[in-house]
Amino acid sequence: MHYQSAYLKSPWKCELRTLELPDFLPDAHVLIRVEACGICGTDLSHAEDKLDDWQPFGHEIAGVIERLGSQCDGLHVGDTVVLESSGFCGRCDSCRDGRVDLCNKAPNFWKAGPSLGFSEYMIAPACCVVRYDGLTPEAASLAEPAGVAYDMIKTADIRHGDKVCLIGPGPIGLMAIPMALKSGADEVVCIGRTRNSKRLEAAEKLGAKVVASDLALSAHTELHHQFDRVLVTAPVQIIPQALSLLAYGGVLSYIGIGTGDGTIQFDANDFHYRKLQLRGSFASPALYYPIVLKMLKNGTISADTIISHRIPLRDIGQAMTLCKEDKGQTIKVVITTENIAPQV
Ligand SMILES: [Zn+2]
Ligand SMILES: [Zn+2]
Repeated sequence: MHYQSAYLKSPWKCELRTLELPDFLPDAHVLIRVEACGICGTDLSHAEDKLDDWQPFGHEIAGVIERLGSQCDGLHVGDTVVLESSGFCGRCDSCRDGRVDLCNKAPNFWKAGPSLGFSEYMIAPACCVVRYDGLTPEAASLAEPAGVAYDMIKTADIRHGDKVCLIGPGPIGLMAIPMALKSGADEVVCIGRTRNSKRLEAAEKLGAKVVASDLALSAHTELHHQFDRVLVTAPVQIIPQALSLLAYGGVLSYIGIGTGDGTIQFDANDFHYRKLQLRGSFASPALYYPIVLKMLKNGTISADTIISHRIPLRDIGQAMTLCKEDKGQTIKVVITTENIAPQV
């Protein structure tokens, strides 16, 4: 049986290939029929200049178990599932010391088969499968980026009554707004560029006060020294200015992907005398799926506010172009695979 799978190559080349489903699955692996997969900032960055050769892509995955290999206890054909993009082993020193967040040694889906999430089917290790119910596949596919947002929130260690500032209203930043409020923040102020109007509207809907500005943060002196916590999901170059928003003893939690040169300079005297903290969030291994699935289910995170576009797999090339060219009008673009009859 054949199926369709999208491949990517820099710069901005995307093609659908026809692949053959495997006859046998390795032990402790499952075959997933993908129903929805979100386009992530990392996919765009890879499309731009990171891939010299064709690669399958897509890692924000929701689907249905189609087939089971041996040793897949507790899983059943027909289960609706999302996939952790990386996992912990449970056996290394970090895991045994209770720091599973420092381990990345579990099998993952990245090299498990010839296709990833922008496909009709893919193979994944059973250990990265998390079952869900009560959500659409599109909403469930937000579990991966929501886990990233939750890691940033945990890293920021938000306390009751904190004033929080969010810089960067992409999908991850936006999902962090209700999470920060639920974690006890009194208010969340979201700063974004005016061209990102759709994203700023969403920020407001999700409970933030919005500052739409094309000025540098250094020009916004009214915001300086105002925030107990600053969450940054924007290129690293913003960090020196973002530190000036922190109140005495404040914490900045940063998540970013490589955007060219990651070198920054900031005033270490200010950092020292104002007892500031700069913390890196990196959601690998991918934790917290049960928590964020609950947030998606109970409406803490409004999937309808985050998902701006649903586009079928056959149009993935156009979807990538849309994300590239109209950042301000897209929030999360989710690729869907309708029930396509098996091609024999
Ligand atoms: Zn992602
Ligand atoms: Zn481990």
